[in-house]
Amino acid sequence: MAKFCQYCGNEVAEGTLYCEKCGSPIQDAPAQPVQNNQTVQNIPGQVNQPVYQNVAVTGKKTNGFAITGFVLSILSIFLCCAGLVLAIPGLIFSIIGLKDASNKGEDGKGLAIAGIVVSGIMLVVSVLYIAIYVFAAFV
Ligand SMILES: [Zn+2]
Repeated sequence: MAKFCQYCGNEVAEGTLYCEKCGSPIQDAPAQPVQNNQTVQNIPGQVNQPVYQNVAVTGKKTNGFAITGFVLSILSIFLCCAGLVLAIPGLIFSIIGLKDASNKGEDGKGLAIAGIVVSGIMLVVSVLYIAIYVFAAFV
């Protein structure tokens, strides 16, 4: 089977590594029309820089609302009855965080659920504490 030079179209013998006519390396691909191989060469002055893709390598972003909600709910534990002040926004932020994290495909759903549970408990505890305090004041 005869081969043809990819660059100049010259017929070359089987087993020949370089075209006798133009000196181009002979590949096993079938003969193709002569192509402008200048497109392969580097244009002088043009630096070939690696293309940095805009893809985050280190995991997903954690949702800000979820973090805020969780932090507020944890802080409300330390404030005891006054935790109501932080438990309410903590609950709201956690609920927003849970929805926002799923909408944006971000991390923090577990954090948001923990925030909802903790601030929910603190809300009940705070309300009970205040109720007992108020009740005690009238007795
Ligand atoms: Zn050739």
